[in-house]
Amino acid sequence: MKVFKFGGASVNSIARIQQLALIIKEQTNGPLVMVISAMGKTTNALELIANAFYGNEKDTALERFHVLKEEHLLVAKQLLEKRWHHCESQLADFFTEIEWLLHDKPVRQFDYYYDQIVCLGELLSSCIVSHYLQEVGVENEWLDARDLIRTDNNFRDANIDWEISTQKIQASIQLNNTGSANIVVTQGYIAATDDNESTTLGREGSDYSAAIIAHILHAESLTIWKDVAAVMNGDPKAFPDAVLIPTLSYSEVIEMAYYGAQVIHPKTIKPLQNKQIPLYVKCFLDTSLLGTTIHQLPVKNLPPIIVIKQNQVMVTMNTQDYSFVADQHIIELYSLFEKLHVKPNLMQTTAISVLICMDDYSDKINQLASAASGVFDVQIEKGLTLLTIRHYNESVIKTQIENKKILLQQQTKETVQVLYQ
Ligand code: ASP
Ligand code: MG
Repeated sequence: MKVFKFGGASVNSIARIQQLALIIKEQTNGPLVMVISAMGKTTNALELIANAFYGNEKDTALERFHVLKEEHLLVAKQLLEKRWHHCESQLADFFTEIEWLLHDKPVRQFDYYYDQIVCLGELLSSCIVSHYLQEVGVENEWLDARDLIRTDNNFRDANIDWEISTQKIQASIQLNNTGSANIVVTQGYIAATDDNESTTLGREGSDYSAAIIAHILHAESLTIWKDVAAVMNGDPKAFPDAVLIPTLSYSEVIEMAYYGAQVIHPKTIKPLQNKQIPLYVKCFLDTSLLGTTIHQLPVKNLPPIIVIKQNQVMVTMNTQDYSFVADQHIIELYSLFEKLHVKPNLMQTTAISVLICMDDYSDKINQLASAASGVFDVQIEKGLTLLTIRHYNESVIKTQIENKKILLQQQTKETVQVLYQ
């Protein structure tokens, strides 16, 4: 049994959905679970709808929703003939659910509504893909991921209930049974609570969904289909010399994701590693390219891997009375991070100050600054860039930081990080 995950770019147009069907016809000769993301920028559009709804701009929310609805109907209509009416009525049910919600007044917390609205993107795309596959003769069964993956109610970043998800997935996906379709189509990114409320797993979370399903079903492999030739050692837009990396270890990918490389969702690797399931990153535009294989074995002689994070903020905290930074300060800071759901990207202490580099979430930074202001003088500097280089050498560092004003630098044997202006 294999799992294929198709990201937003691979279902973003009629031509791409047709290409996806070709890949399924060409690549599959056994049981398969397909995990589908929302089309292109749908999740961003749904976020705006959720914001408008919560900001009591009902008309804006409904107008935006109308646009999104028409876009999806158009794609479905152009792809489908025989299956059009089936698909249209399934899409209509999804639309109605959201329209009802948008006519209500928000009375619960924002994150709850966010998930009820944003989960729609994956439902729509997977529904269209499933019908299109039927239309071109690829038998498949569409399953609602909210009946497969159970989470707590930590909306927008829900935590998996592995026990119940295992029961549900094993009961619903029995691909080896003869007589039923051997392909299941489901959604990435979305799940549900005990009370059947929709949840999401964090932005770009479809990779994680695919890994959860692969883990639970002991898949022989997970393939993530992307619009790039393979994983590269840097973003080719920023580094013209970027090269393809044919193999990587699980631990290298975890490190890369941790430092902000946008290759694979950070939570994806652990469920795969635990069952030794190889992860293939393949190009859906040209299936003959080898892509990247990610597995357990260490990989030697990797090129320098460069990760850039923009929009960084440096928060400088100096003790007001010139007392040394002590354990107690650090304990309090970490409990603040936990409370505010802040993850520092880099932190350094000196005798009387703590320097923290983090993503620019203005509201959280303000809360952090005001909570710390009893003990520290707090300064905030925005618009910075955090550069991380794994497997660095001196010449790479030199070319990357030339002419930059450096604010902070940390170096281990494997990794150098530089925060600059
Ligand atoms: N559609 C979701 C997002 O854009 C999840 C995903 O694509 O992985 O974040
Ligand atoms: Mg994506």
